[in-house]
Amino acid sequence: MPNRFSIYDAVPAYSEEDCAGALFAAKWPDGFRCPRCAHPHYYKVSSRGRHLFECRSCAHQTSLTAGTVLEGTRTPLTKWFQAMFLMQIGINAKLLAELIRVTYKTAWLINHKLRHAIGEWDRMRPLEGDLQLLGGLLRLRIPSLLQQSNRAGGAEAAASRGRRLA
Ligand SMILES: [Zn+2]
Repeated sequence: MPNRFSIYDAVPAYSEEDCAGALFAAKWPDGFRCPRCAHPHYYKVSSRGRHLFECRSCAHQTSLTAGTVLEGTRTPLTKWFQAMFLMQIGINAKLLAELIRVTYKTAWLINHKLRHAIGEWDRMRPLEGDLQLLGGLLRLRIPSLLQQSNRAGGAEAAASRGRRLA
């Protein structure tokens, strides 16, 4: 059983920059690849506070979260990473909301998406350690919660979104 008194101390203090770096490494372990044309070079552009990667060849713009379980989120990356870490302890949405300081609704959504992603990951391969689980979570192509209701259709849609960079 997790110790309720130490659980607050267990919330890691990530920086947004660290999370973006980890996300980049998980998403593009061999360096950036344009999801449309596979070109390896990009310009970094900012749009409404979002950091986008614009392909130098075809000008397609993509983000770190595009095509991952984090796609479309307005919740800071730090909170997602804290949630992923805390998921290993196995906590409910109410406690998650308290620990990472988000609304219950946001915590429920994060919890739900991560649980689904972990389920997908388990089906794909046995657990190989936290870091790989984290990398796997981030690499999973889960476009939206709505598309997850049909697992087969979701997987197909996910596959057609681009090659997996595993
Ligand atoms: Zn391109």
